[in-house]
Parts: sequence; structure tokens; C-alpha cells
Amino acid sequence: MSDPADSHPLPMSRTEMRDWWGWDELDILLVNGDAYVDHPSFGIALIGRALVAAGFRTGIVAQPQCDEDFLLMGRPRLFAGVSAGNIDSMLNHYTAARKPRRQDHYSPGGKAGLRPDRATIVYTGTVKKLFKGLPVVIGGVEASLRRLAHWDHWSGTMRRSMLADSKADLLCYGMAEAQILEIAHRLKTGESIKEMTDIRGTCWMANNRSAISDPFARGQVDTPSYTEIKTDLRRFADGERIHFLEQDPARGRMVVQATDARFVVQNPPARPLGEVELDLIYAHPYTRREHPAYVAGVPALETVRTSIVTHRGCVANCNFCSIVYHQGKDIQNRSVDSVVAEAERIASQPGFTGTISDVGGPSANMFRMRCGKMRKFGSCVHRDCLLPTPCPSLESGVGENLDALRRIRALPGVKHTFIQSGIRYDLALRDGDEYIDEVARHHVSGIMKVAPEATDDRVLTLMNKPRFDVFRRFKQRFLLATKKAGKKQFITEYLIAGHPGCDTGTMAETAATLRREGMQPDQVQEFVPIPMTISTAMHVSGLDPFTMQPIATITGDRERRMQKALIHSGKPDNRKLVLEALQKTGRMDLADALLGDGTGGSGTKGSEFATRAKKGGYFGPTFMAGGGDSVVDEDEARIEDELDAHDGHFPDPRQPTTLACGTRVPTHLAQAAQRGGFNPSWQGKKKTSTVKPLRGKRR
Ligand code: SF4
Repeated sequence: MSDPADSHPLPMSRTEMRDWWGWDELDILLVNGDAYVDHPSFGIALIGRALVAAGFRTGIVAQPQCDEDFLLMGRPRLFAGVSAGNIDSMLNHYTAARKPRRQDHYSPGGKAGLRPDRATIVYTGTVKKLFKGLPVVIGGVEASLRRLAHWDHWSGTMRRSMLADSKADLLCYGMAEAQILEIAHRLKTGESIKEMTDIRGTCWMANNRSAISDPFARGQVDTPSYTEIKTDLRRFADGERIHFLEQDPARGRMVVQATDARFVVQNPPARPLGEVELDLIYAHPYTRREHPAYVAGVPALETVRTSIVTHRGCVANCNFCSIVYHQGKDIQNRSVDSVVAEAERIASQPGFTGTISDVGGPSANMFRMRCGKMRKFGSCVHRDCLLPTPCPSLESGVGENLDALRRIRALPGVKHTFIQSGIRYDLALRDGDEYIDEVARHHVSGIMKVAPEATDDRVLTLMNKPRFDVFRRFKQRFLLATKKAGKKQFITEYLIAGHPGCDTGTMAETAATLRREGMQPDQVQEFVPIPMTISTAMHVSGLDPFTMQPIATITGDRERRMQKALIHSGKPDNRKLVLEALQKTGRMDLADALLGDGTGGSGTKGSEFATRAKKGGYFGPTFMAGGGDSVVDEDEARIEDELDAHDGHFPDPRQPTTLACGTRVPTHLAQAAQRGGFNPSWQGKKKTSTVKPLRGKRR
């Protein structure tokens, strides 16, 4: 008889347990907030397959709707594992402006509402109620990034660790295969889960300080308590800095946080997986499909069905990203053979159309990259791995990376092999022409998506991203490679609106830069202060956690929308918001540049905005209501009403304002002074281009 693992997904019912797998009971029950998709891009499939391969009978309850759904396969022998799914349930359900999303890409048919808010807490409560005394282990992105007290954007409050709120027995953070296998083996030998306080990559609750020992012989560090961060935002910023510095498997200490009368203890992160371990994880016989119980497809699968994850971790420390807290900084690589073998399996599947949609990871060109010092001693605290320039100790993996891509391209049935994952452009420039040339020639599906995230170097510094000029150089280099390859391909830029330090005036300048340089960003992501990032700490506390210097932040959804509209200023729907933003920031001089032909669709002569601005004129409701604007939502409708009731005068940008020093100056100059200097564009001066010409090949 063939091994059931070769042809069946994990069971979701008693019939499947018996008929597919020959089991009469489960060892482990996994409860998940997403639909069950048996694909290695889905966390529950990775964990479930790892447990089954280790001999544990594991079943999955996906998106349970009532108590009976939890009971379908009976009480498991060892424990229940609970996860909200591939992404945080609040981020899945609500936009940055806290509006409900209409679709859920992790549910069959994209249907919303199949998972509760803060699903980890709700599911854990139900498991505890239905299976009295059964150990419950929580994990997944939601639990992982909420493992310590954190800012919850959607309630606008500080919340306790999800371990305290859910009352689970243990919390696994990170990718968690190693932790979950250790827990399963130790429970199988009869050990109590209460004794498991020495597993790396887990958090546990201590009733008192004397219960916290030091099994890792690394010492421990106290982080500000839940009560402190609730009442003092400086302490919140302090805490986020401490967490960041301890997220290192080689040198990280235990982190202890007092939470009410108890303590949340975060053990050091799990050791990075070796190549052999990672190869085994991705060699499991995933069906790469939704469980057959679903009638409708799961949209999230479509984007990754034929994609291959080459590695985990990211050496970049982008401040708005939480990947370092979840996957770590050290790159955990699969072997080239393992990646090619997965491509072969994909190519042999029925219905394969010839396209491998992605070969990558957090950044595609970090595959096979390594730093020996980081693995042995931990990441450096005295410098960043990539900034201001990539560290010489970071060994390039380009040779093996290209080898994998070439071998995949040569597989029978494979017509296209694309890279959809991000490319870290400062590394690509460092690693020479060969990589960029080959990617441009073979691995771009018409448009390459790159994420400079901002154009202003001050904001980029706060994001911990390279200067914008580095992106310009990469773009020039890519377009040259594209030309050499005789292809018609483009780069589209991804940007973030509303990041700490990026006020609306800065975004207006960014929009002008993009226009000037002919860039058309495909997507502008509104900054979302998700739990456990440095940018979230900046946003909430108004401080840079590393320097404790103040940072200007925007808090209103309206302002965030204005920033987003500025980037897509050519869209007629955005016209009002763009004008409002320019009025507010005293940058009406940019109106001609940002509103396309200078008429904004009103048919007025091209220099209308500039002329009015120079005369100190206003842009009242009649002017703003012209053109083909449409009401986009209730908020816009409210603005329409306000405009109707308006007396026709927006603040005159030439009204004098008194500066702190007592000098009276025109308002627009005062605003420019606040932004850090008088803006030369008001005086009709052109800025000198900072684009450097390419001089030959870079090696
Ligand atoms: S040696 Fe360089 S690459 Fe390695 S951890 Fe330190 S800064 Fe990062």
C-alpha cells in the first residue's frame, strides 16, 4: 500500500482519519484561522507535515464556526496547537483606517467573516472549554508578534502578551517547527507542559520571579512592565529597543516582562535551521492544493501555487518590518538541489502551465548568502549588516542563486521562471552585473516590483533603508540590462505613506520627485503600526527607540489618505485630497506638477495653480469641485458637505505668521521653515539632479 502522506492532505474529519490515514485517534489537533491549504507557503501545512513526518497523528480544524467543529475528530492524546493563520487576524480583517475588509484571501472563495477577531484568544478559550486539562500551545504570526505587551492599532490601546490574554500553556514564536516537535516528543514521554520552561523560541508564564531559572546560561533582562508601557510611552520605546536587541539566537538573553501579578518570560530564539533540516521540511509531500473539502478556491493560494521558498530570514533591518522578529536575521538556506527538486515536483503536477511564479524568500537575492560571524557570535550590535553599505563579511550567494535559476529554467515543461519576491537593490548592485543581467533577461514578468518605500533620505534613514540615490542607480542598471536583453520591461516602485517622520509636506515633495523622474508607483501602502516593529514604536511614542529623539508622526487617517493620494495624484478621484494636502502644507507651487496637465481636469489653463499661488489666491469649493470627481466613500461625502457649507476661503498662504523668534513672515515661508528650511522651489530655483551617470560596469 502506498504511503497516505504521498497522496492525501492531513485529515479534517473522522472519515478522513480512518479512510486516508488509518488512524482511530489523534495525537495533536491543530486549530487554524485560515482555510487548510496543503502548501509550504502556509504555516499550518508546514507544522502539520513536520509532526506527521515525526510520527504524530495530526488533524486540522480550519476556520471552526461552532463548538461541534472542534469536536469532529475527538480529543487529541497530547495537545492542541492554535494559530490565527498566516497573518494577524486584525490585519486580515481591517484596513489601516480600521475599516472592515470585504475579502479574506485566506478563506474559500475569498469570503470574509469566517474567523473571529484575535482568533488565537477565541480558539484557545474554546479548546480549553471543550477539552478540559488538554495542554494548548499557541503560535503563528499573530501570537508570535504579540508575544510581549504591544500596541494594538485596531483598539488604540496597549495590550498584554497574547499568552496572558489567551491563557494558553506555551507560546511558540518564529517558524516553530523545532519547538513544536520538542514539545510533542516531551509530552509523549509523559513530561508535564508546566515543566517545559527551557525550550528556545517559546514564551511561558511564571507566577513569581523565583520560578525563573537560567537554563540557557545567558542571563536575563527585564523589559518595562505592561503597566509601565501603558502609562509611559518613553518606557514603551525603551522596551521595543530591548526586544529588538535580544532577538538573536547566538547572543539573545531571556526577556522578562511583569504582567499584572505574573511574568511573561521569552526564552532566547530558536537556533537557525541547518540546510539539511530545511531541505527535509520542504521535501514533505504537500499536495499544493486546498483541502478537497472546499468547493471554492482559496485566493491566497493562487499567488503562491507554483512559487518556491528558497530561504528564511532577512539581514536587512527595515524598521517597519517584523520579519526579523519572526524568522530572524541569519539567512537559513535550502540547498540548490532541494530547490530544483521542488521545481521538478511542481513541473510534474497535473495542470502545470509552464510558469514557476517565484523563486525567492523575504529578499530573492539573499538566497545562499551567509555571515559566519553572525551564525557563531550573533549579529553585530555596533553596525548594520547593509547600511550605510553592505558589510564585507556578508558572503554573496549569487553564484549558487544563479545556478538554481539556470537549472530550473532547463527543466522539461518549465517555460518561465519569475522572481516576484523583493530584490534588495543595494546588495544587487554590490554583487555585480551578472545577477542583474540574468534577472532582467530571464526572470521578470514584464514589470519588476521594487520597494524603495520613500524618496526622502531623512525618512529612509528612519525606515533603515538605503538612500534614494542607491535605488536610482539600481533602476538605471536594471533598465540598461533590460535594453541589452532586448526586452520591454519596467520597474514599478512600492512606497509607504504615513511612516513616522514623513509629514504631508515631505510626501508632497516625494510626489514631485516621482513625477520629475517619471516614476509611477504601482502601490502605495498605508503605514500600519503592526505589533513589534521599531516603526510602530516610533509612531506610538513619537520617539526613535535607539536615540530617544523626538520624531514627528501623523495620527489622523485623513492625513494618511492625503499622503496616499499625493503619490497617485494623477487619479481624478484623488484631486480634492491632493489640493487639500498642498493647501495645508503651503505647497501649492507643486499643484501644476502633481495634477498632470496643470488643469487637474478642470480645463483651466496650465499655469492656473501656480499663478493663483503666486498671487496668494485661494482655491475655494467651486474650483475644487470642478472636473470629474466622484465621491469615493462616506468620508468623501462628509467632505463634500463641508465644502458646500464652506464660506469659500481656505487659509491664505500669504497671511503673515509670527515665528517663535517674534519675526512675522508669510505663512508659506513659516511652514517651509518648520520643514527644515526655506524651499527653493518657491523662489523659482531648480534643484540640481542627484542622479549620477553610469560609468561602465560595476564589479
Ligand atoms: S559581520 Fe557584518 S554581516 Fe555579519 S553580523 Fe556583523 S554586520 Fe552583519
